[in-house]
Amino acid sequence: MIQLVLVGAAGRMGRAVEQAVAGSSGFVIKARVDRAANPPAGAAGWTADAAAVLGAGDVAVEFSDPAACAALATLCAERGAGLVSGTTGLDPAQDEMVRSAARRVAVVRGANFSLGVAVLRRALRTALAALPPGWDVEIVERHHRLKADSPSGTALALTADAAACRGAESGAPCFGRGQGRTGPRAAGEIGVHSVRGGTWVGDHTVLLAGEGEWLELRHVAQDRLAFAHGALAAARFVAGAAPGLYTLEDVLAAGGGHP
Ligand code: NAD
Repeated sequence: MIQLVLVGAAGRMGRAVEQAVAGSSGFVIKARVDRAANPPAGAAGWTADAAAVLGAGDVAVEFSDPAACAALATLCAERGAGLVSGTTGLDPAQDEMVRSAARRVAVVRGANFSLGVAVLRRALRTALAALPPGWDVEIVERHHRLKADSPSGTALALTADAAACRGAESGAPCFGRGQGRTGPRAAGEIGVHSVRGGTWVGDHTVLLAGEGEWLELRHVAQDRLAFAHGALAAARFVAGAAPGLYTLEDVLAAGGGHP
């Protein structure tokens, strides 16, 4: 049995992971960690302090916030616990803390743990390899009104994918198109646009626009279970992996499967 420590357990994703565990086998939730204000007061099995519960061989699964994510990564490295990290919007120093932890323990990190987005990213690479560089790339993401970071981590991953495919032909990303006489589109620019509202779980569209024709690749997450199942596949992978920084692609390539 894999012993899970859920960090951010009271949040939207934490609850989805809890639900996914209930429908899976091979996992035990050893502890649920959240800020003191959030867990049900006095409920058994909850703590505000991951350091009080995390032990060697455990797998921490975190969807929380950037500072909590970075601190947890350091704790995992100290304790010899694996880490599945889904939080987005880390700053460079926090990012380095996760990378540094991954030199000592196995870490799977991803801005999006859904199988559909893994396939969307592959489809984008295939499309860009087949299209001439003159085709414009615009990425539009929609999320619920409470999302803290913008653009989404997934939109940034798609932007990086497109830039890598375009190589020297790629221009800088353009985050929103501004207002007024913004002028013509710069050559090679990758446009990234964030829409916030309502309860959208996650919607990413990549528009590829040529002369007189365009193509749309789109993924819609309707339920957070799509991410939670991927996080559990990653937890299974982490439990048996050597230290290193891995992605969902690595989990899938290792036959980790995705329910
Ligand atoms: P949320 O606000 O609903 O939940 C976050 C939880 O973390 C809250 O309960 C909060 O109290 C807790 N938390 C914050 N700081 C903490 C700390 N220091 N210690 C313990 N708990 C702490 O947010 P959410 O929608 O569940 O998203 C969380 C993160 O996961 C965001 O960064 C989001 O972008 C990301 N996310 C990633 C994926 C993915 O597939 N990788 C999918 C959805 C969301």
